[in-house]
Amino acid sequence: MDKLSPQQRYKNMAAIRSKNTKPEWIVRRGLWKRGFRYRLNAPRLPGHPDLVLRKYRTCIFVNGCFWHGHNVTFPEMKNDEIKTLIDGIENSACCKIPRTNREFWVRKIQRNQERDIEQQHRLARLGWHCITIWECSLKPSIREQTLTSLAYTLNHIWLEDHGAKVISYPSSDDEEMRMPRAAEEETEYGGI
Ligand SMILES: [Zn+2]
Repeated sequence: MDKLSPQQRYKNMAAIRSKNTKPEWIVRRGLWKRGFRYRLNAPRLPGHPDLVLRKYRTCIFVNGCFWHGHNVTFPEMKNDEIKTLIDGIENSACCKIPRTNREFWVRKIQRNQERDIEQQHRLARLGWHCITIWECSLKPSIREQTLTSLAYTLNHIWLEDHGAKVISYPSSDDEEMRMPRAAEEETEYGGI
């Protein structure tokens, strides 16, 4: 039974695609494989984090480098010198703001950056840890390293939250060394 018009269907598909973008899938798969369970797109939390790990009181954002301005610093925009300020903004390796319509893109990306910071502050006030995973850290050559260190960070957070003394922080290439983790008592959806 198909009650959707072709246009509604297109909109639906577009929405589904935007929720299952590739970088986010890589993080989900990587965490799942390492035994972590999570919720997706928690609608009631500020900023709708991509993954929520309640046991670790942690929200994970998987950010596209362009849209969130990875490693780009924006100056405070003052109206009288806006042209000079915009021309002075340096692109980063993974966020290249187009020359054409540069002011439009600068304002858009800067707004996203400000919103990200604001939302993470709100989450922190609610007692959540926030971790941002950048798209560029998920390219094939460094992906596993990123995911392994994410797993270590989560275990570290858990230990600190539970008052355990963390003696050493294992290097990310030491695959065999795993910190103890409490049994996964939560059965949350979101597996692949
Ligand atoms: Zn980046």
